[in-house]
Amino acid sequence: MNFASRVEKIPPYLFVEISRKIARKRAEGIEVISFGIGDPDLETPAPVIDVLRDTAGDLPNHRYPESEGLPEFRKATADWYQRRFGISLDPEKEVISLIGAKEGIGHAALCFIETGDIALVPDPGYPVYSVGTWFAGGECHWMPLKEENGWLPALEDIPEDVARRAKVMWLNYPNNPTGAIASIDYFDKVIEFARSYDIAVMHDACYTDVTFDGYRHPSFLEARGAMDVGMEFHSLSKTYNMTGWRLGMAVGNADMINALLIVKSNLDSGVPQAIQHMGIEALNTSDDWIDERNAVYQRRRDKVLAVLDEIGLEVDPPKASLYVWARTPEGFTSGEFAEQLLENCDIVVTPGASYGDYGEGYIRFSLTIADDLLEEGLRRLATYTGSR
Ligand SMILES: *Cc1c(COP(=O)(O)O)cnc(C)c1O
Repeated sequence: MNFASRVEKIPPYLFVEISRKIARKRAEGIEVISFGIGDPDLETPAPVIDVLRDTAGDLPNHRYPESEGLPEFRKATADWYQRRFGISLDPEKEVISLIGAKEGIGHAALCFIETGDIALVPDPGYPVYSVGTWFAGGECHWMPLKEENGWLPALEDIPEDVARRAKVMWLNYPNNPTGAIASIDYFDKVIEFARSYDIAVMHDACYTDVTFDGYRHPSFLEARGAMDVGMEFHSLSKTYNMTGWRLGMAVGNADMINALLIVKSNLDSGVPQAIQHMGIEALNTSDDWIDERNAVYQRRRDKVLAVLDEIGLEVDPPKASLYVWARTPEGFTSGEFAEQLLENCDIVVTPGASYGDYGEGYIRFSLTIADDLLEEGLRRLATYTGSR
């Protein structure tokens, strides 16, 4: 069989060994507790599920949806952006539905990248930015995210010739995996950079509504001129515990949204309409629901931080996202340390290196783990003695 190189070029999964150990432990009847997966354990709001029941029988929902999404869903998205960020969007030209943000992010590469073109991609980062680039025939220039820069790409470090060739820059704040945030000031600098090199900015904003300590994270589109240079990807997955329903949206520059529609309408047929009706209901969920849900994650975050402090691992407490990003102890790679935690404590964490070379030296704890399992996992973590 002759497979395309894009299928074979995908970097091999780095932590095969850890997966094997998890499987072995589970086979021995040991209950391994995973802090590895960023997938909300909490329920989709009940009224949203009711809408699925109510709309499942309606004939129009049995038929093909439009790729761009129902006008009512696009309107609900525009209203949400207005309410949430104070941004006015034209629901017809500046909003499109996605089968989850991941789908839009992957397809967006096809709008900008030709063979040999460069995408500026954060390292560490969500893998779809780089994989989408490779699938489109492009190359990644990695923008290191470093603690000393607040996990923001240092734009001045991007070589002039790379910037000239780059077509796209990917950003993601609040950030997965580091939990870092970005300010409007930073977005202003990105816009200036994008203008001077004619680069399209793709901002993945899917954690803006998972925040702690009363913090509010801006949309990229709040920065002046953002609509001229970029698009923002958002999702109902993390905001409303809806990962399983597959619903997201891209908003921003009308020409870019149109390009994405051209790609999408030729490859997919949009989001099932009953699910878009769920989305409309979800986008009207009260802020109180979000605050209460975030309080759950905040309590979990604080418990994780307390135990990390006890065992002497350094962390910067995150203001947003579903993750705690902790330094590995001296003398371990992130992969080795994750293996130690599995071997000695029966818990799973994600090694930072699996998100890119600059993730080395860190491990990621996800907060999407039921409270009783979290407590038990942390009891086990607290027994970690630091000896090799
Ligand atoms: C979870 C996640 C997504 C995926 O969102 P979906 O809408 O479920 O596809 C996108 N970007 C980042 C950084 C994520 O962590």
